[in-house]
Amino acid sequence: MRRSCRSGLVLTMKCPICHKEVKLDDPYMPFCSDRCRIIDLGNWASEKYVISTPVEKHPEQEEED
Ligand SMILES: [Zn+2]
Repeated sequence: MRRSCRSGLVLTMKCPICHKEVKLDDPYMPFCSDRCRIIDLGNWASEKYVISTPVEKHPEQEEED
């Protein structure tokens, strides 16, 4: 078994959004920052939105912004 001396006693995990290392005592855990936390919330919310809304695809409604 190999021991990573860089990790030492500081445990880290990876941010699910940007895969940056996050310390376990980080206030935004498991995210590296508030930004990634909001991105994840957004993903979750849009998923829920899709589930609770009938999918209607109109060809002319492609994002034209
Ligand atoms: Zn992140």
